Amino acid sequence: NPAKNKYHPIDDAFWKRGEKVPYLALAKTFQQVEEVSSRLKMIEILSNFFRSVIVLSPSDLLACVNLSLNQLAPAYEGLELGVAETSLMKVIAQTTGRSMAQIKSDIQSTGDIGIVAERSRSNQRMMFAPAPLTVDGVFVKLKDIAKMTGHSAMNKKVDKIQSMFVACRHSEARFFIRSLAGKLRIGLAEQSLLQALAIACTATPPNQKDYPPKILNAAKSLGENSFKAKVEDNALILKTAYCQCPNYHKIIPELLEHGIENLLERCPMEPGTPLKPMLAQPTKGVNEVLTRFEGIEFTCEWKYDGERAQIHRSNKGVISIYSRNQENNTTKYPDIISRIGDVTESDVTSFILDCEVVAWDQERKQILPFQVLSTRKRKDADETEIKVQVCVYMFDLLYLNDKPLVTEPFIKRRELLYKNFKEREGEWKFATRLDTSDVDEVQNFLEESIKGNCEGLMVKTLEKEATYEIAKRSRNWLKLKKDYLSGVGDSLDLVVIGGFKGKGKRTGTYGGFLLASYDADNEEYQSICKIGTGFSDDDLAKHTEFFKPHILPGPKSYFRYDSANEPDEWFEPVQVWEVKCADLSLSPVHKAAIGIVDPEKGISLRFPRFIRIRDDKSAEDATSASQVADMYSSQDQIKNQQNGGGGRN
Ligand code: ATP
Repeated sequence: NPAKNKYHPIDDAFWKRGEKVPYLALAKTFQQVEEVSSRLKMIEILSNFFRSVIVLSPSDLLACVNLSLNQLAPAYEGLELGVAETSLMKVIAQTTGRSMAQIKSDIQSTGDIGIVAERSRSNQRMMFAPAPLTVDGVFVKLKDIAKMTGHSAMNKKVDKIQSMFVACRHSEARFFIRSLAGKLRIGLAEQSLLQALAIACTATPPNQKDYPPKILNAAKSLGENSFKAKVEDNALILKTAYCQCPNYHKIIPELLEHGIENLLERCPMEPGTPLKPMLAQPTKGVNEVLTRFEGIEFTCEWKYDGERAQIHRSNKGVISIYSRNQENNTTKYPDIISRIGDVTESDVTSFILDCEVVAWDQERKQILPFQVLSTRKRKDADETEIKVQVCVYMFDLLYLNDKPLVTEPFIKRRELLYKNFKEREGEWKFATRLDTSDVDEVQNFLEESIKGNCEGLMVKTLEKEATYEIAKRSRNWLKLKKDYLSGVGDSLDLVVIGGFKGKGKRTGTYGGFLLASYDADNEEYQSICKIGTGFSDDDLAKHTEFFKPHILPGPKSYFRYDSANEPDEWFEPVQVWEVKCADLSLSPVHKAAIGIVDPEKGISLRFPRFIRIRDDKSAEDATSASQVADMYSSQDQIKNQQNGGGGRN
């Protein structure tokens, strides 16, 4: 009950108005968040802290938000910390006088380098206490560290980390080192942070003169019900603004200056800022599609098997291309950029196109498999040296001539797409489509798509419930893959967290791997299966080589697994694999989606088989715990059981 929240943003903060927020205040907040398991409680703790920041030190809010998410800049700026655990161990050893062996063994027993850092620090006595850290100071220095490149960058990074580490007090050491190691481990998902921020700005609106008590605690003056309703409205605005402009560096200053109410206009969708893409839900067969879309008009498109590309053009003519994960792929595709003028009508000034890029065989005039596309250079490609030609399949238009189109129905967006863009053989095409609701026609179209080297179909609503839902795995886009027709429905994208040494013929390489899905709510990788099938000897050698620099001294504390499945070596969660399986079953040893379908059992894959590496997904984009649970529950045999067993329906 937020109206009964007794927190006082000025009296209960331990820094004063106009001062920089001490890093210790943030570390203490993290500590409290880590100690509770209720999501609502976490949100309350964080929103109280944000309220104090809003009143006392608003210019630090951006750093507080970023550090709470352990990020330095939006994903598309590609600024990452990337400090190896061994370097951090060295820092701890050098500043505390402990040996590397002691530290290593502590990490192995606690599974958490942050805790080891904190405990090692508390043993140390200092002659002169360094100046206390501030949130802003830590944020700025972490950015400096991330930007260091070149010859002696690692040494320079270590020096800088060391100078900050000696200044850490209490739990600051834990969170500072965890930040550098890549995970905060406080269980705070981004949606919870947005909720906390919305509550904070509702309870204590930013940018007020002197903050009279009525404004300092708006929750009390508004009364419980109207406060709750206002929080709901504000959270929706904030979350929508974040979808159309996923950049806190733009959102937070606007929020502080003009309040939440004006955020959607102040942070519009804009070419040059990548949007989180709309995603599809899996289905198993044409009948499921028809049931879902009964009475709703829909269209089927071929589902191309390449790489998603969001192509932006600003009013000034700047073209940028972003991946499914908002990474900047502009320098990967100079060929696309140089041809784009050929396919846009002359009165088009700005746009955002949603497309799939596929490898194209110019002689045979056909689509090549995804594996061919993946051999292209990833960055700074030189157009004259490109060997793999690509064709861009345009399937949606999200923005045109200064106007966002995401709230328009697909039928309108598609019309504008066709009207304002042209096709060119082997270079630019509209996704092949068929508007039908006839079972046989859909089935035939699916088969044709497979013959055309596609993965299957995307089925999309046209008029009703047909807006572009940014960042959502929406029910208005269904994917229908050829392998859905038998088995599970979809492949899974899983993180490799460990390797089992090969025996016999496979001696010298790994013979199997431990895979995990990702649970964002608990910030953990949960083991889902051991895999040893689908690899050629060559694959195994390549994987073994790839993981060499990513071997860990022990499991991360955010790996959830059973000791019965302990691999010979643990890996940093750096690579995602697409995997198919026969079915999903409840497991006494694996931990995927634990607590969702069954309070104690996780879910595991039966007969998993390696398909390919998914370079376009980061470890946190792996199949999520809730997706695993959905896939498990939608299996026919499970549905039958839930309906009373025996397949009576
Ligand atoms: P996967 O690609 O393994 O199916 P995903 O999580 O990357 O999983 P999904 O939402 O499941 O994405 O499937 C949609 C993906 O299919 C898009 O991200 C896009 O890259 C690709 N795609 C190919 N053709 C189309 C199309 N006509 N319309 C929309 N997406 C398409």
